[in-house]
Amino acid sequence: ADAFDVAAIRRDFPILRDKVNGRPLIWLDNAATTQKPQVVIDRLAHYYTHENSNIHRAAHTLAARSTEAYEHARETVAEVLGAGDSRTIVFTRGATEAINLVAETWGRHNVRAGDEIVVSHLEHHSNIVPWQRLAESTGAVLKVAPIDDDGQLRLDAYEDLLNHRTRLVAIAHVSNALGTVVPVAEVIAAAHRVGAVVLVDGAQAVAHLPVDLRALDADFYAFSGHKVFAPTGVGVLYGKPELLAAMPPWQGGGNMIDDVTFERTTYRPPPNRFEAGTGTIADAIALGTALDYLRGLDLGSVERYEHGLLDHATRQLGTVPGLRLIGTAPEKAAVLSFTVDGHDPVDLARSLDQGGIAVRAGHHCAQPALRRFGLEASVRASLSLYNTYEEVDALTAELHKLAGFH
Ligand code: PMP
Repeated sequence: ADAFDVAAIRRDFPILRDKVNGRPLIWLDNAATTQKPQVVIDRLAHYYTHENSNIHRAAHTLAARSTEAYEHARETVAEVLGAGDSRTIVFTRGATEAINLVAETWGRHNVRAGDEIVVSHLEHHSNIVPWQRLAESTGAVLKVAPIDDDGQLRLDAYEDLLNHRTRLVAIAHVSNALGTVVPVAEVIAAAHRVGAVVLVDGAQAVAHLPVDLRALDADFYAFSGHKVFAPTGVGVLYGKPELLAAMPPWQGGGNMIDDVTFERTTYRPPPNRFEAGTGTIADAIALGTALDYLRGLDLGSVERYEHGLLDHATRQLGTVPGLRLIGTAPEKAAVLSFTVDGHDPVDLARSLDQGGIAVRAGHHCAQPALRRFGLEASVRASLSLYNTYEEVDALTAELHKLAGFH
């Protein structure tokens, strides 16, 4: 049943045929952004060639085409994530905007002085800073659930933080810095027992494992298109219907209103209430195409393939002298974060680039997570469904060479 044909998949991604510094591109910076399959590139071109029009407003044929395609994309997102009703899907500019939207609307409406917001030590800055700002402006208190030396969330300590003052838990599904897969179903169930609402940051999850929002019972779920083979500039906020319905709008403008007079404005129901102005229409449509592509490959098979690749990479990197892997949780996805004794991470990444190998070096927008391991920076190789065992071996061989030079 597991005929995962990586060679065929690679042919779908034209950039993988490119050379960088005279060498075949080895793209291992997938946690930063993923490459785009031809179907997504073609969908953008098709939109601008045949459909380009503002949605929802005009009565002409092109507006009908673009509106239909945009709403179809919303339905695809809902189907692929198990969201049920597509009106739970709000298009945003990305995960960052989705999280800020919840902080600025649900947060300002529901969080009071003395209330508590819980995040984890694993979070990306975009799932820390909006909550910090909300806490500053409301007088709420930000609490941090700790992780252990493997980079796993400490569920016991997390549960100890929960109480009747906890309003919201904001938690990564998969850590971008360490690759830890967080047991979000347990996190959500525990939060619900004290009546708290949970926002899951799924930016690093959707491309790597099947997500079933209603089975998880997530209240909010955020992710970015560009990390799931779609264009930049588009993302998704899922919210439970009753939560979205009770939330005030964030930005005001066209598209989100029902009726406007100078005395009083009424708003459309969700999701339109949260989509003020002309959005990123073509990119949202192409996000639907990307998720269709991913669904066609079967996310269970993707997860199994990537798991094998991650295990192989973990073993291979373990042979490099002086290499220290951070993030060694048993449940991991796609990310290898490491340092090599005596080598600056940025220098290592630059040297790898000379060999056509793209990895990221730095704090990966997760400074607290890295500092938990005593580091300001690491090298991060992050995998995707089009990466191969041979590419991992090429990375390992380069690292063996570089680790020898001082
Ligand atoms: N959360 C996580 C876990 C991420 O990895 C990222 C992107 N690195 C984000 C949030 C923010 O995504 P974006 O920059 O696309 O809004």
